[in-house]
Amino acid sequence: MDKSTELFNISKQLVPGGVHSPVRSFKGLPMTPKFFSRGNGAYLYDIEDNSYIDFCMSFGPLVLGHKDPEVEKELVQSLERGWTYGACEPYSLELAKFLVEKISFIDQIRFVNSGTEAVMTALRLARGVTGKNKIIKFNGCYHGHTDAMLIKAGSGLAGTSEASSKGITPGVAADTLILELGDLEGVSNCFKQYKNEIAAIIVEPLPANNGLLVQDKSFLQGLRELSKENNALLIFDEVISGFRVGLGGMSEYLGITPDIVTYGKVIGGGLPVGAIAGSKTIMEHLAPVGEVYQAGTLSANPLAMVGGLATLKKLTPKAYEMMNENTKKIKDLFEKWLSEFNKGQFSHYKVKTHSSLFWLIPTDKEITNVNEIPSDLGEQFSPLFSELLSRGIYLSPNAYEVGFISLAHNADVISKLKKRLFD
Ligand SMILES: *Cc1c(COP(=O)(O)O)cnc(C)c1O
Repeated sequence: MDKSTELFNISKQLVPGGVHSPVRSFKGLPMTPKFFSRGNGAYLYDIEDNSYIDFCMSFGPLVLGHKDPEVEKELVQSLERGWTYGACEPYSLELAKFLVEKISFIDQIRFVNSGTEAVMTALRLARGVTGKNKIIKFNGCYHGHTDAMLIKAGSGLAGTSEASSKGITPGVAADTLILELGDLEGVSNCFKQYKNEIAAIIVEPLPANNGLLVQDKSFLQGLRELSKENNALLIFDEVISGFRVGLGGMSEYLGITPDIVTYGKVIGGGLPVGAIAGSKTIMEHLAPVGEVYQAGTLSANPLAMVGGLATLKKLTPKAYEMMNENTKKIKDLFEKWLSEFNKGQFSHYKVKTHSSLFWLIPTDKEITNVNEIPSDLGEQFSPLFSELLSRGIYLSPNAYEVGFISLAHNADVISKLKKRLFD
């Protein structure tokens, strides 16, 4: 038995399923999860010190790669000043100033500890601002594990919804309305059906949690218009897409301004940070100015703030250009290997990319909606994941998760990747 399997067996006794987040459990894969003991640049090292080129990158935050030396230096200095005060400090102010200056459509920002928390607050804020209860969410978008977002379309009548997890009350489920990505007419009808009841539309402007479902700009533009016409707010959940296409996220990339934006992942550079941002008028509905309550013992803790700022400062236009170029090279290498490996075992696979995100899919069709994803995606992924792992290449251990390319995936790593794929 290898060391990772040994540790996983112990972990299963102490922790439900052996993991602290379900996607880490290698469910549906023919092996137990690897235990990693360190990371550096584009590489992760397992407990037996085998190296893997990491394309999971902690599911997104590590846009500079593991243990970036400049971020590390800032973090070490920060540790020397203590790591939480529960009081005002200049470090979150610096990060807030940086973001408000760089992102054209936000006046104010509030930091929390995760993407889930950011979304939870955004929904409460939207309800507080509009005085309405219902939220439109799209099938195939993930917004963290707050109750209101663990909702799927009902199996019975059209327009009904039900919880996708146990432990969520029918009342909460009834307030989330589920629609299909791309279906503007559905959204329009929903506003008619629930006249004056809808507080907000929430959407990932670049859906990247159920594969990479790149949307037409016209769909997002349509959501902007429909929400305005119906006095509802538009929430862009940029927890993945924020800081991937540029500092202004998909909002600036597409030129569509949401009322509220949520951030997570890259914003903390690998430390736990989430954020809600928007105009002053909307943001000042939050306590202590306004009547929408929100708080956090460890919110904006200096260590995380310093890590986030040091990370974001390195995201220059040049850095984005490099990541995009390297993503193209990595896509080409994967596609060549997929078409050739083992007499074409994976030759029906294509690599879909957007900025520094990629997704391996066993079809060459354009997929923009969850219903178009091949139903046997998981079974097809299992041998592919195993083969790549055995070659020292680590993908997100789930067919529906995208791959992440960082600034550390440089020319040197790309030539290593080529060797590992073709040798
Ligand atoms: C990851 C993610 C979340 C949840 O963030 P956590 O930090 O895992 O709580 C919410 N929305 C989107 C779009 C995400 O990708």
